[in-house]
Amino acid sequence: MKLQGTMLVKENELYIGGVSCKELREKYQTPLYVFDEDLVRNNCREYVKHFRVNKENNRVAYAGKAFLPIYMCKLINEEGLCLDVVSGGELYTAYKAQFPMEKILFHGNNKTIEEIKMGVELGVGRFVVDNYYELELLEKICEEKGEKQAVYFRITPGIEAHTHEYIKTGQIDSKFGFTLSNGELYNALEKLNNYKNIELVGIHAHIGSQIFEVEPYLDEVKIMMNLVKEIKESYNIDIKEVDLGGGMGVYYTEEDKPKTIKKFCEAIIEKTEEVCKKIDIKVPILIIEPGRSIVANGGSTIYTVGAMKHIKGIRTYVSVDGGMTDNIRPSLYQAGYECAIANKIGEKRKNQVTISGKCCESGDILITDTNIMDIKSGDILIISSTGAYGYSMASNYNKITKPAVVSVQNGKSKLICKRQSYEDLFKLEVV
Ligand SMILES: *Cc1c(COP(=O)(O)O)cnc(C)c1O
Repeated sequence: MKLQGTMLVKENELYIGGVSCKELREKYQTPLYVFDEDLVRNNCREYVKHFRVNKENNRVAYAGKAFLPIYMCKLINEEGLCLDVVSGGELYTAYKAQFPMEKILFHGNNKTIEEIKMGVELGVGRFVVDNYYELELLEKICEEKGEKQAVYFRITPGIEAHTHEYIKTGQIDSKFGFTLSNGELYNALEKLNNYKNIELVGIHAHIGSQIFEVEPYLDEVKIMMNLVKEIKESYNIDIKEVDLGGGMGVYYTEEDKPKTIKKFCEAIIEKTEEVCKKIDIKVPILIIEPGRSIVANGGSTIYTVGAMKHIKGIRTYVSVDGGMTDNIRPSLYQAGYECAIANKIGEKRKNQVTISGKCCESGDILITDTNIMDIKSGDILIISSTGAYGYSMASNYNKITKPAVVSVQNGKSKLICKRQSYEDLFKLEVV
């Protein structure tokens, strides 16, 4: 298991943020999400610096769906980032965290009437309009409320990023956005004159997730900048802001070879300047929307090892006290992870095992065939890089309660989300 951020090894024990996993288990029980605050803040700062947020008014909008407790909203605001939300629930979370509404981008391919009303009332900075239906609704609601709304159009540019089939969104066959190739976008642009309460200020595209190469982004830059020019020439609309989406890849296992945040940002900015010069347009304000690459490596999950089952000649199953309810990604996307025994971190990995969860599903496997230290019931198993799409995708299947989330920093731990109680499970039930 690659040591991330503040992880370090002391006398056969793993420490994160200066706190041992053993101490964390004693204090908060397992399963437990551990949040390495220094790592996450550092990633934010790398983005702010290398995407030239202060220097050139570019913006980095954290994609909240990756992990969005109120604590995270506040951290994101402190670090000077904007925030992407995709639902009324995420928007309400941001509101509760007193996140500045003008720094919010409201995404989603099927915002409901209530969600659109809420967004307009709260005064979100940008609606990222996905389709005609939304455009109509938004115009009507803005008119009723006497509000003007700045929007981006979401474009489907037809780029296939090299990533898992399920998480591709930039290709033509996609539920998202106005498609470029079939004229959908041009239709929408033509209609814009009829919408008196909507101001188109930018265009947006998101080409996928867990992308390691910069080339798809450079292609995207080319398409988007040419579109800015075309929109000016054909419709006389100034597109001042271009949002290139998120999707920058991160390390989960040895197969993953991500670029640094610096490399990503520099490549995108350089290419934008080059293309704009070539086609003779002003360089627009750039926006990117990283989610995973800000929080994934900053989260780990610690579990207690329970039952073990050895099937001679086939495999050994090691079951932990969580599973697909706190990390659905292995079952959903065949996502890979690394693990270790936190209380035997210095020892050799002599055994091959499969880490399974406690749900009533054969597919509830966290890691298949991994090498691990000598393992016993009661050991602390840690899976690293669970910070993105772990807690935010957690469920109560089998009425398993959601784990707590603890932030660690400088030798101290603090609870940021309580463990769900059994009573919490019945809060919505009418009995
Ligand atoms: C999911 C998503 C992101 C963030 O993707 P990551 O892979 O987490 O960086 C950004 N923008 C949009 C529109 C998204 O849907």
